[in-house]
Amino acid sequence: MRTPLVAGNWKMNGSRASVKELINGVVDGAKAINGVDIAVCPPFIFIADVVAVTEGTNVAVGSQDASTELKGAFTGETSVEMIRDFGCKYAIVGHSERRTLYGETDEIVAKKFGVVKNAGLIPIFCIGETLEEREQDITEEVCARQIDAVFAAHGENAFEGSVIAYEPVWAIGTGKTASPEQAQAVHAFIRAHLAKRNADIAEKVQILYGGSMNPGNAKELMGQGDIDGGLIGGASLKADDFLAVCAAGQ
Ligand code: PEP
Repeated sequence: MRTPLVAGNWKMNGSRASVKELINGVVDGAKAINGVDIAVCPPFIFIADVVAVTEGTNVAVGSQDASTELKGAFTGETSVEMIRDFGCKYAIVGHSERRTLYGETDEIVAKKFGVVKNAGLIPIFCIGETLEEREQDITEEVCARQIDAVFAAHGENAFEGSVIAYEPVWAIGTGKTASPEQAQAVHAFIRAHLAKRNADIAEKVQILYGGSMNPGNAKELMGQGDIDGGLIGGASLKADDFLAVCAAGQ
């Protein structure tokens, strides 16, 4: 059985004071939650403050991105070694906002996936189709292409010890959620696609759903056979909402 993972993606939100309040609330409430992996992904600049609160608790920390480069003259970038050094366990790679707003191609995302894994971090690898692509009925093709870029760069066992987040772009931050049946169908496709390379790894990979998951829909989504948790944007910014989503995974 796969343990569910609920990860909060705080995006570019919060102040030093509000982040302190949020993480204290999450850590406090998470004490009552068992059988669910919990993580939060703050903006880089808050990671140290957040880790100071989460150390020794059941809440892990992740970054929202990572540089393709390991060190040197790359102004504005943050390396995987720095991310690990500051106490992160996870790193999100390939979030649709990075792909669409910052031009990250499948190849760039695949490179990030590799450096993250090599640093001993767990990549939360985001994939998903746009509304236009769903309407053209090419959701599976798009997800397969995004996954295959990682296989091409890192080989048949690339997804060992990694997490995938299926995030239909049309559902992110829009209040529109994929129905449990729609999401399950894509998750099952993703797992089957991974299984063509390595069935054992495919069975173990946590596949999260992301896209307007909230306390009202989390239980039904996570009740689907191939949905192993969630990547949560908006609802992760309020401790009570985030904790309610985490509790739905129990
Ligand atoms: C996300 O950005 O990863 C996300 C799922 O956002 P939201 O929950 O706000 O749709």
